[in-house]
Amino acid sequence: MTSLPISIRSLTKAHGALTVLDGVDLDVRSGEFMTLLGPSGSGKTTLLMVIAGFIRPSSGQVLVGDKDMTRVPPHRRDLGMVFQNYALFPHMTVGENVAYPLKRRSYSKAEIADKVNAALKIVQLEALSERYPSQLSGGQKQRIALARAVSFDPRILLMDEPLSALDKKLREHMQIEIRDLHDRLGITTIYVTHDQREALTMSDRIAVINEGRIAQVDAPAALYEKPKNLFVADFIGDST
Ligand code: ADP
Repeated sequence: MTSLPISIRSLTKAHGALTVLDGVDLDVRSGEFMTLLGPSGSGKTTLLMVIAGFIRPSSGQVLVGDKDMTRVPPHRRDLGMVFQNYALFPHMTVGENVAYPLKRRSYSKAEIADKVNAALKIVQLEALSERYPSQLSGGQKQRIALARAVSFDPRILLMDEPLSALDKKLREHMQIEIRDLHDRLGITTIYVTHDQREALTMSDRIAVINEGRIAQVDAPAALYEKPKNLFVADFIGDST
């Protein structure tokens, strides 16, 4: 699988008089783990949803490779998504949940079975394929959501606060698991969090967002040691 870079150019989004994204430029390298970090209401989820195609921008471009995705519907964007609330289908077994995105693509039954197995193996939950989501712990549910998101070898993985519903200990464990999964798959990843420590632990680079603008994009150590402005210094400093 080849992963692709993402290039966001002059992206704006307004809801009536409210400007939610105010000229966002961001380059995510192929295979990079990029985190969007900012306080609540800064525009992180909106930016992620524009990249996913669930929200149309007011202006600007989202390039994946050299292709402008702004007019491509979500199901044609070849991306996996993981949400805070897991978004598993309660009436489907684990195996059926993971198979769902595969069935919507043109794979044979045998290919689907192979890919479901491979995805469950990645998150080490092969034994649970006949269970229903209600029979799983929070951590297991999020692992299944991850398996479903990567089952069809997407070029891009988008995650919106995937660990916020988990308790602290499990969250710290899952941070390592997700980062490890990223390293094994090498998939270009954009990860949204409001948690500074989580961002500093997991990311290759962090884009700090404030009021719909990118305040700074840098590697964790550089953000910490050389914040570009007071907002970044205060916000990153809050993590200690
Ligand atoms: P974050 O993910 O950083 O918490 P969001 O992207 O969810 O931020 O929201 C950014 C801002 O946009 C907030 O002020 C929010 O109230 C506003 N907003 C988001 N979606 C809508 C919408 N559909 N209509 C009006 N305002 C919205």
